[in-house]
Amino acid sequence: MHRLACASIAFLACAPGAFAHEAAPPGETAALHAIGTAPSPARIEADIRKLVSFGTRHTLSDTTSPTRGIGAARRWIRDEFERISRDCGGCLEVRDVRGMISGEERIPDPTEVVSILAIQRGTADPDRYVIMSGDIDSRVSDVMDSTSDSPGANDNASGIAGTLEAARVLSKRRFPATIVYAALSGEEQGLYGGRMVAELARKEGWRIEAVLNNDMIGNIAGLNGVVDNTTARVFSEGTRFNETEREATVRRYTGGEVDSPSRNLARYIDAMARHVPNLDVMMVYRLDRFGRGGHHRPFNDAGYPAVRVMETNEHYDRQHQTLRTEAGRVYGDTIHGVDFAYAAKLTALNAVALAGMAGAPPPPAGVEIEGAVSADTTLSWQRPPPAQAPNLAGYKVYWRLTTEPTWTHSRYVGNVERHTLENVVIDNYFFGVAAVAKDGSESPVVFPGAAGSFGGY
Ligand SMILES: [Zn+2]
Repeated sequence: MHRLACASIAFLACAPGAFAHEAAPPGETAALHAIGTAPSPARIEADIRKLVSFGTRHTLSDTTSPTRGIGAARRWIRDEFERISRDCGGCLEVRDVRGMISGEERIPDPTEVVSILAIQRGTADPDRYVIMSGDIDSRVSDVMDSTSDSPGANDNASGIAGTLEAARVLSKRRFPATIVYAALSGEEQGLYGGRMVAELARKEGWRIEAVLNNDMIGNIAGLNGVVDNTTARVFSEGTRFNETEREATVRRYTGGEVDSPSRNLARYIDAMARHVPNLDVMMVYRLDRFGRGGHHRPFNDAGYPAVRVMETNEHYDRQHQTLRTEAGRVYGDTIHGVDFAYAAKLTALNAVALAGMAGAPPPPAGVEIEGAVSADTTLSWQRPPPAQAPNLAGYKVYWRLTTEPTWTHSRYVGNVERHTLENVVIDNYFFGVAAVAKDGSESPVVFPGAAGSFGGY
């Protein structure tokens, strides 16, 4: 959405005297503005060039060479996370997530798929996770070709470079919740790395608030001729993939088709773009591009809020193509197709969203709504255990017309567990509630019931 929508939210919430009887909402933190301009195009360029220098990063490529193949690439990423950690006094815990895959169409012979996580542990609520990810592996026209040069400069060295740069920026600060910087593997062969990390999260009981998967964040010139360096796309599913039949029935009568936690995560990122100069978000209300996939999906499959962040305009001659020139037309995902300043802006978009969520209290749990056949609408929710949210200031109730794409009305209601909106009829709006920190950071808005739940505390 464009700035106007954000401005109108602020206006409604801040209009002098409009809600004089309410507690004043905390002001928004200046730190987010600093984070929104911190990512460096030069560092992102250097990292993309380094990743391209490994020749190919195909999942089935060499793992022993020190200079070529997926093994060398992932060892370099691991070392880079360790270097970033040394710069923040060891604030990152670097962890490999390994699994053997075989007998699959795109991985027939036993192959170890290795993803690398750098974990910045939260100070108050370490089991709550916000995750930024990119993919290590690259491919050419033949998805089984593991030896040809496959630079994967935009797909997806850009996503890895952005993830490394976000780690450099955010590791200078401390947050109540845990931030994970994830370099995932095996994406092109069938989303294996994401599936393994989602499975690990489930086993270890991570409370995942958000996965921001970055897949191609550096191309500004579309195959259709459009050149645009001021917008980013965020794709999100409309309903939770793993809802039960009963939950779907409830949703049929009470709404929520466009208010999954992933969708409200997308709206959150859209609103946070105000901290990044000259960038707007185009939300796309679908899981991913038409018939195509990405590494946010295995997290959605497991029920976690997850979105795809990417460039607005794709150039298909530069994706999954064997390097070649045919009748004057150049194919291949080379460094020439990447705009580093643009990749830095999309990195900043991730960074402000991660900082906002990790700095805010957890999204409200147990959100319920009532008010049928009455003039008023009442929302209720549960507060987290105080130790999980030492910076909790209170809550903000949001609402919008049912046909509106983003939240248009809000009211700060203080540190309560229930609020009644008088003479706002439940039938005519969608409602939600967000938690607000003392510094003004907010959680995503939570739509009531199972349809919108970000999970418990
Ligand atoms: Zn790809």
